[in-house]
Amino acid sequence: MTSREERIADFIEAFRVEPGSTVKLSKDFDPTYRGTVRKKKKGRQLLAEGIDILSEYQTRLYAQHSHGVLVVLQALDAGGKDGTIRHVMTGVNPQGVDVHGFKVPSSAELDHDYLWRYQRQLPRRGAITIFNRSHYEEVLVVRVHPELLERQNLPHSARGKGMWRRRYHEINEWERTLSRNGTKIVKLFLNLSNEEQRTRFLRRIDLPDHNWKFSSADVREREYWDDYQRAFSKMLSNTSTEWAPWYVIPADRKWYARIAAAAVIANALIEIDPQFPTIDKDAHNALLDVKKTLEAQSPEGAAPDPFEAG
Ligand code: ATP
Ligand code: MG
Repeated sequence: MTSREERIADFIEAFRVEPGSTVKLSKDFDPTYRGTVRKKKKGRQLLAEGIDILSEYQTRLYAQHSHGVLVVLQALDAGGKDGTIRHVMTGVNPQGVDVHGFKVPSSAELDHDYLWRYQRQLPRRGAITIFNRSHYEEVLVVRVHPELLERQNLPHSARGKGMWRRRYHEINEWERTLSRNGTKIVKLFLNLSNEEQRTRFLRRIDLPDHNWKFSSADVREREYWDDYQRAFSKMLSNTSTEWAPWYVIPADRKWYARIAAAAVIANALIEIDPQFPTIDKDAHNALLDVKKTLEAQSPEGAAPDPFEAG
């Protein structure tokens, strides 16, 4: 590992949820945290570094073609998911990235098991897919609003006592299968404070060209703040695993959240360490034969191999 890669690995350690630990969000993670990166200017340099790594490694990920990367993005309303996606993914080849947003499930989606619609959008080998909201809504909004569960038409055996524990377990096992078979899962929770959410909603009201982003449903949802904090805490405690750990990103400062998110995704690519495929001796000799043929076709006055000639 070069020092750049080591710096990234050290930087993200503070955000990682240790598998098996019990998280209480309000006590364990500070939305205003910024460690040693006190200044936006220093942050910009780090972000550029993270983005460089993303871009370099993405090409290799595509060339190696054995792994896909799934980025799971969860946040409270106004947590900054969209801006994070936009900033982090500048510099990567758009052909290798898909973004899927998950809204309230349709009736066709509700006619299947709860993981079905997420399974269908998983990354291909060589690609990065971002889930803007994800299967974790199934243990967040659905847990906070039990009436949503009613719409899922579940058999009796999938409900009742222990159902959330079972869902955590099912999600962990699903992710384990995916990760063993080449899908690297990167889970980011953008952790916003109550006061910063209030400020961002007001900003959306105060700035005319942000009015379109304002949703009164989001303000109503804010009344369930404590329930969400509990649901997020339980989710983090039960679904941070060795194969797919959660990272809690301090989200009160947008610039910091973007650096942190880019660093965690970059680190996942570093861990995969994809390589350009190499070819064996026979294939190499075959290339040299073709090279000779092409060189023999050089017109009058041209170098046999203009590339080699510089
Ligand atoms: P933005 O507001 O930035 O456009 P968003 O992700 O908030 O993006 P919305 O259309 O505002 O999109 O909200 C989507 C809604 O769908 C959220 O309230 C979310 O909780 C809800 N949702 C997502 N998945 C599920 C699910 N499985 N069951 C029920 N509701 C869900
Ligand atoms: Mg919304």
